Amino acid sequence: MCGVLNLDTLLLVQICVALLTTGLLVASACYAESPPEQRWWAAGNVVITLGMAMSSVQALPLVLNAIVCYGVIAFGLGLALRGLRVYCAETLSWTSIVIMAGVALAFAAYFTLVVPSLRARLCFSGFYFAILNWICALAVARHGNWRVTGITVGGFTLLGLALFLRGVHMLLHNENDSSLVIALSALIVPLAQICIAFGLILMVMWRYAERLRRLSTLDALTGALNRAGLEIQGKRVGLRALRGGRSLAVIMIDVDCFKVINDTYGHPVGDEVLRHLARLVKLELRPHDLLARFGGEEFVLVLDGVSLDTALNVAERLRARIEHERVELEKLSVRYTASMGVACSDQHDYDLIRLISAGDAAMYQAKRAGRNRIVAG
Ligand code: GH3
Ligand code: MG
Ligand code: MG
Repeated sequence: MCGVLNLDTLLLVQICVALLTTGLLVASACYAESPPEQRWWAAGNVVITLGMAMSSVQALPLVLNAIVCYGVIAFGLGLALRGLRVYCAETLSWTSIVIMAGVALAFAAYFTLVVPSLRARLCFSGFYFAILNWICALAVARHGNWRVTGITVGGFTLLGLALFLRGVHMLLHNENDSSLVIALSALIVPLAQICIAFGLILMVMWRYAERLRRLSTLDALTGALNRAGLEIQGKRVGLRALRGGRSLAVIMIDVDCFKVINDTYGHPVGDEVLRHLARLVKLELRPHDLLARFGGEEFVLVLDGVSLDTALNVAERLRARIEHERVELEKLSVRYTASMGVACSDQHDYDLIRLISAGDAAMYQAKRAGRNRIVAG
């Protein structure tokens, strides 16, 4: 087995993979709009690679080759950990990073200058860097969402395990003994590095995809779905109701005399009224109901498994609540009302566009009948 796992070849592979993954992280962080965590990961990896290079070049002075390199690697891990904490909306202080590097420096200096022992140094570094990698794994694991973070957590855990095994080996054997454990850990390290690099990039990609989805399907002012979001999700809800043999109801909501509110108090107050309305409606929704901003001051509610009578009750509850609520602003308090049109698949089709048209027509009837009321389509 050891013959197959040639140590020199594995070391070469390890160096190539370290350079490749570092290059990958640096390249992905070069994008001008890249999030800060990506830059911390790239910087951390560059520093770690530098430290590893310092520890491998025997020609360097002892201070660099046997002491400083450990501090540099620990410092790099600290930067990477800071990036992971930033990804989870937390941070890691510079003091903590300096302490992480300082501990590595102190132990390496002790086992080089005070009680010189290569074995003790390698043993300590194995355990210490294993712990730092597991702290990194824990920082990501706490974020949850295993489908996205699983590869990174696995990579850090695996890297910690390989380094820990190396530490155990050094504790039990002479530093010159080449064993299966050392060969295996030399094999695991590059695999773990690849997992970490791809895992980190996946985490950022997932964030971008999420942001893009939100930008393209949600209304920025109210947080309700926009037209595109309504189209995508409405189709899904409509099909689900049709397959399940349930009624599908639509409530069209339009703020009464909204133009007057804008003209009287200004557009920012109008915006606040729209936010208020969206917040209020969301309170009445079940998790699978949809709320979308259909136009300026017009909203649409899509309710799965709701008959016309129930939808009329929901609409009445909403209308009454809107009528009694006040939008409290710094120096004024604004009241508003809304007119609503209700349509249901029991009277119409499951086609959302037709339901919305019927609801819209009913809502305009409510307007003509004097506003602040509900009409069934
Ligand atoms: P009605 O009772 O018949 O519905 O009258 P209304 O004034 O509510 O309706 P109208 O269609 O005359 O005016 C709607 C106004 O909504 C016009 C437009 O300037 C305003 N509006 C559209 N989008 C926004 C927005 O995002 N913010 C603000 N503040 N106003 C908006
Ligand atoms: Mg209106
Ligand atoms: Mg309108």
